[in-house]
Amino acid sequence: MKHVVILGNGISGITAARYIRKYSDYRITVISAETEHFFSRTALMYIYMGHMKYEHTKPYEDYFWEKNRIELRHAWVQAFDFANKTLTLTEQGTDVPGTLTYDILILGVGSVSNRFGWPGQDLEGVQGLYNYQDLEAMEANSEGVERAVIVGGGLIGIEMAEMLRTRDIAVTMLVREKEFWDAVLQVEEAKMIGRHIREHGVDLRLVTELEEITAQGERVGGVVMKNGEKLDCQFVGLTVGVSPNIEQFRDTELETEKGILVNRFLETNLPDVYAIGDCVQHREPPEGRKPVEQIWYTGRIMGETVARSICQAKTQYQPGVFFNSAKFFDIEYQTYGQVPAQVPAGFQTFYWEHAEGRIALRINYRSGNEAVTGINAFGMRLRHEVCEKWIKGKKSVGYMLSHLRDAHFDPEFFKRHEKAIVRAFNKTHHDHTIRLGGRPAFWEKVFG
Ligand SMILES: Cc1cc2nc3c(=O)[nH]c(=O)nc-3n(C[C@H](O)[C@H](O)[C@H](O)COP(=O)(O)OP(=O)(O)OC[C@H]3O[C@@H](n4cnc5c(N)ncnc54)[C@H](O)[C@@H]3O)c2cc1C
Repeated sequence: MKHVVILGNGISGITAARYIRKYSDYRITVISAETEHFFSRTALMYIYMGHMKYEHTKPYEDYFWEKNRIELRHAWVQAFDFANKTLTLTEQGTDVPGTLTYDILILGVGSVSNRFGWPGQDLEGVQGLYNYQDLEAMEANSEGVERAVIVGGGLIGIEMAEMLRTRDIAVTMLVREKEFWDAVLQVEEAKMIGRHIREHGVDLRLVTELEEITAQGERVGGVVMKNGEKLDCQFVGLTVGVSPNIEQFRDTELETEKGILVNRFLETNLPDVYAIGDCVQHREPPEGRKPVEQIWYTGRIMGETVARSICQAKTQYQPGVFFNSAKFFDIEYQTYGQVPAQVPAGFQTFYWEHAEGRIALRINYRSGNEAVTGINAFGMRLRHEVCEKWIKGKKSVGYMLSHLRDAHFDPEFFKRHEKAIVRAFNKTHHDHTIRLGGRPAFWEKVFG
């Protein structure tokens, strides 16, 4: 019987394990140094905020693994002998290394938090937020803290700000860009989120960069910014992005660049070694996609794809329409398809924002056939399958707006906004309404 070893018990590795069990009788071993069981990384913040206990973040009961004959090893793999298909690993709680052989190896080793060599970055009280150990460190490091500084304005930075604010810790965020997350969001959304962050009492400093972290004894005592300004603080969160966890393969035959290089079948350069999830860099990314995409749902798709390739027929990675979701304090965010920070030539955009500024919708579409190519929703939840169908089916912006009700998750809630959205569209696109097909039906449906 083949032995499939999966390194990493995150969403990608666990999805692979579940599907390999579904499709085969192979022996399956999952190894992780982080925690014994799979948990939802995206729920880490809720443990700190007291909304959940660690147990609640585990999607499967502990008996699931034995019942499904998935062997779990809570161990650190310290060496890779790819030629002899052998791993050297040390079990948690021991210091005597052992070995484990495999027929097929799947690497789902995830990411690590970036650090850019700032003076003082290794002081006590300075940390990133990626794994369970970071959560434990944050619990200890934030004890008794009056002011925290968060460096970096991405999704993890804002989560860290929310976590600290629930404990009444004053938070200053240093963001290098002109607006919050404006490398990803268009300026209107970036400004709206920036305002919302400030509404939550965060001192958001834009166009501000960290120069160094200063010490008070062994511990962080403050930060100095590039503009010379100094700020006392007892905690520094470094949330300046994550990188594929590839340092451990540096002296091996595994080909890496920014991540572990894989082909369209998620095969690495080594026989019987696959890579999935955050650690992957696609040699030939699917159309319109980035070579490295460190998000939950692509990890899941890769896990399922690799299981098919191993147990059934060789299967290409096809992530479909891009999707991601997150939360900025109270504002839920969903993004579908391509919504780049700058509207590319040949495309148009429509943006609607509620007067109170916590609800917004952005639609990007082609100038020629007006086919919708991307949607951002803030403070309103859209139906995944409907948005995907519109983008895949190249439906026009007019069609989309006329069928907006079909997409809303909570029609009662959404009723308040769809008329306003359509009114706003027509106000700025009167010529357009004539050009769009299906508009009369739309007017009848909405205002009829
Ligand atoms: C705070 C936070 C919030 C997030 N929110 C979102 C969100 O809202 N939406 C979204 O799409 N994504 C979000 N993400 C990103 C998402 O969680 C990741 O993309 C996803 O978890 C990556 O899964 P993975 O299976 O690739 O790897 P991981 O979940 O990182 O798992 C890899 C595992 O491999 C283990 N490992 C690595 N090397 C070894 C070794 N040598 N020996 C033993 N074990 C090893 C690691 O310890 C780790 O447990 C968030 C991430 C964080 C940190």
